Amino acid sequence: MEPMNISPIRAFRDNYIWVMRRGDLAVVVDPGDAQPVIRFVEENGVRLLAVLVTHHHGDHVGGLDDLGARYRMPVYGPWHEEIDGVTNPLRHGDFVDVPELELNLRVIEVPGHTRGHIAYYGANALLCGDTLFGCGCGRLFEGTPAMMLDSLQRLSALPGDANVYCAHEYTESNCRFALAVEPDNARLRERVAAVAQLRGSDIPTVPSTLEEERATNPFLRTEQPAVRRAAERFLGRRPGDEVEVFAAIRAWKNNF
Ligand code: ZN
Ligand code: FE
Repeated sequence: MEPMNISPIRAFRDNYIWVMRRGDLAVVVDPGDAQPVIRFVEENGVRLLAVLVTHHHGDHVGGLDDLGARYRMPVYGPWHEEIDGVTNPLRHGDFVDVPELELNLRVIEVPGHTRGHIAYYGANALLCGDTLFGCGCGRLFEGTPAMMLDSLQRLSALPGDANVYCAHEYTESNCRFALAVEPDNARLRERVAAVAQLRGSDIPTVPSTLEEERATNPFLRTEQPAVRRAAERFLGRRPGDEVEVFAAIRAWKNNF
């Protein structure tokens, strides 16, 4: 069997539609726009076996109608969200099995960005939509800080060598914020330099690894004294628990 290849199709301003592919068989994740996917399929002579979506936002599901009309395949998505075109709703602990690709992905519910957001983990890849970003995390549109922190901790507990495939290229601006939180984090400073170089050549910074996120992403580091101190500076008082640290950092980032 050919090796698994995971590559991005760019969409809109900064979205990545991930394609998991062996030879001419593939699945796509979060097709917010059908056109670039159809172009990819035709240019590469690929057959789509399934679509996976992480949450209901238009930049992730906008292509489902056109792709569904064109190709016959199951569309997997979150049980707890109403999404037109999803044929196979998934709950925490479910698996997506695509035998033709020897692909088996575990479903992890990660509420916070949206109430029903799910992530997929398998083949050493974490497809996390808008929950975990390179050096950042998604905005809390529907969930609470406690929910999102819980979700991020769920992802953070996965093996460190997992490759993190998020749905947006936000790493560079996230890094700027992370540096304001933890100016003395040496790994973060290295990352900032590496990211600037990649972006200067228009190369994706995604995937990262979970190990790298744990070392540099402030939203996975709310237990660190330096991050707690940053939260305290922002709040002007000592935060109570880790949820409050997380909420403070998230609120600070919203207006950074
Ligand atoms: Zn979103
Ligand atoms: Fe998005």
